[in-house]
Amino acid sequence: MKKIELLAPAGDLEKLKIAVLYGADAVYLGGTSFGLRAKAKNFDFEQMREGIEFAHSHGVKVYVTCNVYAHNYDLPELPQYLLKIKELGADAILVADPGVFSVARRVVPEMDIHISTQANNTNYASALFWKELGATRIVMARELPLTEIKQISEKIGDTEIESFVHGAMCISYSGRCLLSNYLTGRDANKGECAHPCRWKYNVTEVNRQGEYMPVVEEENGTYIFNSKDLCMIDHIPELAEAGVYSFKLEGRMKTVYYVGTVVKIYKEAINDYLNDPALYESKKDYYLSEISKASYRGFTTGFYYGKPDENAQVYTTSSYIRSYDFIGMVKGFDLQSRVAEIEQRNKFSVGEEVELLRHNGKNVTFKVEEITDIDGNSIDSAPHAQQRVFIKLPSEAEPFDMLRRRKEDEN
Ligand code: SF4
Repeated sequence: MKKIELLAPAGDLEKLKIAVLYGADAVYLGGTSFGLRAKAKNFDFEQMREGIEFAHSHGVKVYVTCNVYAHNYDLPELPQYLLKIKELGADAILVADPGVFSVARRVVPEMDIHISTQANNTNYASALFWKELGATRIVMARELPLTEIKQISEKIGDTEIESFVHGAMCISYSGRCLLSNYLTGRDANKGECAHPCRWKYNVTEVNRQGEYMPVVEEENGTYIFNSKDLCMIDHIPELAEAGVYSFKLEGRMKTVYYVGTVVKIYKEAINDYLNDPALYESKKDYYLSEISKASYRGFTTGFYYGKPDENAQVYTTSSYIRSYDFIGMVKGFDLQSRVAEIEQRNKFSVGEEVELLRHNGKNVTFKVEEITDIDGNSIDSAPHAQQRVFIKLPSEAEPFDMLRRRKEDEN
């Protein structure tokens, strides 16, 4: 059976390390130029060097996004940038613009080039076009059903297919949207989207300023383009059978907690499927309940089974569902005393039930019996964000394991 690659977002160095340790086979990241996620804390060359070394030392590949639609003024710096990425050891670059592609083929001909979803890869003729020009992977447009992906895969031989399997859905066609640029001046195609598609809208009449007339799409309001999040964790066999090799997780702007949670459970589900399809089938409810511990807006299968209908949108709110709080990151662990050093990310207290999310082992739920501060004083809870505290754990732990707590209103 063909192996599956789990491809995770790396918005910064810490997220890259989390993605690698929690089970990604490859990560994608942006440099300070030529990528699309301007607000993600993109990597300068030193961070990129460190990230690539860390990933490679764990057998994980690194792809660098160069998927901006370049203007003339972007081009003079491009060759140096590409040469630097190659020198740093990136495994591939992700490109959308034919101009950027042609410069890359000339300047770094030995580098693998993946064609970004931004290039709207919706048919086998365009996939073959890129293949003939030397691309080694095509990222499918999100508008494609599995039946069409399968047809493309049958036509393009060993060229790899990558598809988004989890994360936020942009409602406009492959991210081509002027809404944010028009309403806020923030350009979605430069990675600065303010997500106005998820806002709640009213209508005003010119002569009645200040009077907001509701546009009622349904009784709770009108969130005209507020898509649910894509989630394909219970459809892994169908994706693999359609020829998808690289399962891509969206979310370079998401938190370390989100990345750790989603990567870990997708990795488990993929491994189960590859090793024992019956086991995978039997664990679907568990995968869904685990993945719901990261924030989400409700789940949809997007376009994979045909055009999304009204059930693919959220009408009641534009907020995320968050059933768990990320409360701390393990920084160290003493095997003898079983005491872990925790960097607090959200306040937690003695007596609370929390869960240790392990990157290399089974998660464990336990009650916090005691918290001590850095001077060894017993405290009820830590008053400051990022404060270092010490707690005893029921199992072993390693740096980059995380602590989470179920939110009260979910109990
Ligand atoms: S405003 Fe919404 S539809 Fe437009 S680019 Fe941003 S996320 Fe996509």
